Amino acid sequence: MSLSRHVESLTSDHLPSYIYDLAALREHVAAVRAALPERVELYYAAKANPESRILAALRGSVDGYEVSSGGELAHVRAGVPDAPLAFGGPGKTPAEIADALRLGVHRWHVESEHELRMLAELANGPVDVLLRANLPVASGSLDSVALAMGGRPTPFGLDPARVADCLRLLAEPGYERLRLRGIHAHLASGLAASAQLAVAEQVVEWSMELAAAHGVEFTEVNVGGGMAVDYRDPDARFDWTAFGTGLRALLDRHPGLTLRIEPGRALTAYCGWYATEVLDVKQSHGEDFAVLRGGTHHLRTPATRGHDQPFAVTPVADWPHPWPRPAVTTGRVTLSGQLCTPKDVLAHQAPVDRLRAADRVVFAMAGAYAWNISHHEFLMHPRPAFHFLDADEG
Ligand SMILES: *Cc1c(COP(=O)(O)O)cnc(C)c1O
Repeated sequence: MSLSRHVESLTSDHLPSYIYDLAALREHVAAVRAALPERVELYYAAKANPESRILAALRGSVDGYEVSSGGELAHVRAGVPDAPLAFGGPGKTPAEIADALRLGVHRWHVESEHELRMLAELANGPVDVLLRANLPVASGSLDSVALAMGGRPTPFGLDPARVADCLRLLAEPGYERLRLRGIHAHLASGLAASAQLAVAEQVVEWSMELAAAHGVEFTEVNVGGGMAVDYRDPDARFDWTAFGTGLRALLDRHPGLTLRIEPGRALTAYCGWYATEVLDVKQSHGEDFAVLRGGTHHLRTPATRGHDQPFAVTPVADWPHPWPRPAVTTGRVTLSGQLCTPKDVLAHQAPVDRLRAADRVVFAMAGAYAWNISHHEFLMHPRPAFHFLDADEG
């Protein structure tokens, strides 16, 4: 069933609803995979959307999953039992490290010297390690991004000077079980393909120089995620073809190297929708406001990032009441939710041809950092329903 027919088929009791198009997701991620050279491994950063059916739908196109907590590790391990996992994230507890050693992890992204020491103490067999480095990148590379995890003082990864300390530590007795594979760097989120490629080149060159200086061999570099998603223009997609071409040239210069990337948002953002209905329309100090069933406690993305969530209106002909139907009068509307806070806004003063109480509104690009980052308990409204569209199910 198409998205719009599915939205029309839902009764008000089923709104708000999250709708995930798993067939479209599979197709998108297969195209991403096809644009990448063979020696690039594609991991999915589970924190973007850990929904079990999404993890399962991705299994055919990704090489593994990046998890950043003990909870994600257990969840992803249960959902896709055979998949390789990379375990990253700051502040790993001794209990999480012990659990991860027991469950088996393909790659460890070590965030600090203290963590490296704990891992060496707890490991009872070989573990494969990448050191997460907070590298300096050429000025300008990260200027345009929404979120920078590196290239400046942050709690993420190792300062470049401490990476060298870790290399010395790994050569000491007691660290034999830790097999150093290379470097991990996730420096920013929101980079277009050319900037992402420039950062990847710098990370690889820095890593190779470090390895040469210390007389060690690196066979892997993970250049992280952060591929841009443009919420102002759902059709402007990250240029995976250009990125793949650039990575191919980079790999040609480093024949023994495997690259790994771990996008989250750019893989799943497009496969999710948040569908709801207009409860009321009112005019306030000259502006129109549509109050929607639901709000940012279900879809926090626009409030946290400060953008307007793209949407489409599905008109509903039926108006069951004898009084006039509240409607937008100015051609522009602010779409707010049911929460008692002025921050509960999904789109500000957006142009609409027509919008009335009982019409439906379907927000696009709600497949990543949406439901799972929202503050569901605030005000105790009901939870949304979840629907999955899948070609396999007709
Ligand atoms: C969040 C995160 C990612 C994914 O970032 P996106 O912006 O969703 O692509 C990848 N790696 C690490 C270490 C992260 O923290």
